[in-house]
Amino acid sequence: MTIEIRKWTKDSNKSLIVFLSMVVILVSILLFAAFLASNFKMFLYEQRKISAYAENLSLLSDVSLNLKKIEQSLMESKLTLSNLTEFGYKQESFKNYFNSKMNLDSDILKIYMSSNKDSTQSSWFVNAKKAKGKISFSLPYLDTQSKKVLVDFSTNIYNSKGQDIGVVVHSFYLEKLTRVLQQHKKIPEHEIYLLDYSENLITSASQNDMKNMQSFKFDKIGLNDYKDKIFSYSNLFIADDDYYIFFTPVFDRNFVLISKMPVKSIYSTKNFFSKKRFVIPTFIFITIIIFVSIFVIMLMSIEQRKKEKIEKDSLTDSLTKIYNRRYYEKVIESEFTRMEREEKPISLIMLDIDFFKVCNDTYGHSQGDEVLKCVAEIFVKHARREHDVVFRLGGEEFGVLLVGTGEENAFEIADKIRMEVQETKIPLKDSKGHISVTISAGIASLVPRIEQNPKILYDIADEMLYRAKRTGRNKVCS
Ligand code: GH3
Ligand code: MG
Ligand code: MG
Repeated sequence: MTIEIRKWTKDSNKSLIVFLSMVVILVSILLFAAFLASNFKMFLYEQRKISAYAENLSLLSDVSLNLKKIEQSLMESKLTLSNLTEFGYKQESFKNYFNSKMNLDSDILKIYMSSNKDSTQSSWFVNAKKAKGKISFSLPYLDTQSKKVLVDFSTNIYNSKGQDIGVVVHSFYLEKLTRVLQQHKKIPEHEIYLLDYSENLITSASQNDMKNMQSFKFDKIGLNDYKDKIFSYSNLFIADDDYYIFFTPVFDRNFVLISKMPVKSIYSTKNFFSKKRFVIPTFIFITIIIFVSIFVIMLMSIEQRKKEKIEKDSLTDSLTKIYNRRYYEKVIESEFTRMEREEKPISLIMLDIDFFKVCNDTYGHSQGDEVLKCVAEIFVKHARREHDVVFRLGGEEFGVLLVGTGEENAFEIADKIRMEVQETKIPLKDSKGHISVTISAGIASLVPRIEQNPKILYDIADEMLYRAKRTGRNKVCS
């Protein structure tokens, strides 16, 4: 293989240049592709980051804000109720307070006094006591009255002396939170979850998840690997090859809000090619390709012309510049068949200079060459049709192939040639005088038949030429 390459490159420097040009084109294509790829990667990265951050930050802050509102209203209730107890228990005051709060976002506000023994076993009551002044929350549950899912936020109330006087519960319609989450779900692939720290699903942007509220675990949403991070960091963004995951603890770290987006769904490529940074590299790339291509095309056309010249030379006689015998052999097959098909005649005149040896001997070989050139010109002059071919058979023998010409016309042409040669005064090279020569011609003429070999034309013409020579020369035989 290496030997072959070496031979090939050695054979022609041109091939080496073409090869190198191709290498240049290939390298510039690769470089440009790499440039595009790296830019594209960067572009995608930017796009992803921008949109993912924007989407998720607003989501996290919106949901946090909603939760904050609940917390605030609860704290406010707690404070008010604590204050009310300072002035003694007054049914009327509580009633007024509740009335003012009942239309608060249509949530339910309840109060249970420690003295009410029935309430002590309820989970919100126990939770509130356990939370020791902090806010506790329940898992979502179905409220039989409203037929809606509620979450209880509860906290116990102390009076200014630190005495435990009861529990205030803010029951929050889960659908309000769910709606906030859903508002932020712009694409179907986007998943948003609100979980408690025991991996219980409080709500999600997808309604389906709500059916399995209690059994929800991180592995179900493919977040098991990130579990530790989600529970130990405060505000974080996790990105791997497939997903962007945002999460934030909310509501005093009781909940964690998780937003999960497939990387593929976040970016768009629509502005990629309008970037200014492509202008110069693209221009350079196109210029290189154009210049190298023009160079290669030029080189190849020079090669092609050389090839054509070699091909032409191999079919041309170098002395007389007319075709040679090889060319005759190349065309006779097709012309013979064509005339056979068209049922038209084809004629071959074979011509030979008389006593040319004497001419050579008398005036020299170089003068003989001049004679050959001169008669060749006369032959060409008389073969006027498009497909007629004048050729040198070798030595001082020539042929004129007349395609579509019958015997009579061929004879006429041959005789005209004979006469013109006879009358032509060929100037001597070395002195002022001139010489004249004569030619003999043999004609073969036929309408080709399918079973005939084109060689027959040559043989007949040769025989007729021989007859012309034998019967006195300077004549035409057919
Ligand atoms: P004939 O009338 O019987 O044809 O006689 P002739 O002398 O023409 O024929 P012969 O075949 O005896 O001689 C042909 C001569 O043509 C011999 C050779 O030296 C000469 N000749 C062949 N090729 C060339 C050539 O390219 N240049 C020149 N100057 N002479 C050539
Ligand atoms: Mg001869
Ligand atoms: Mg001769």
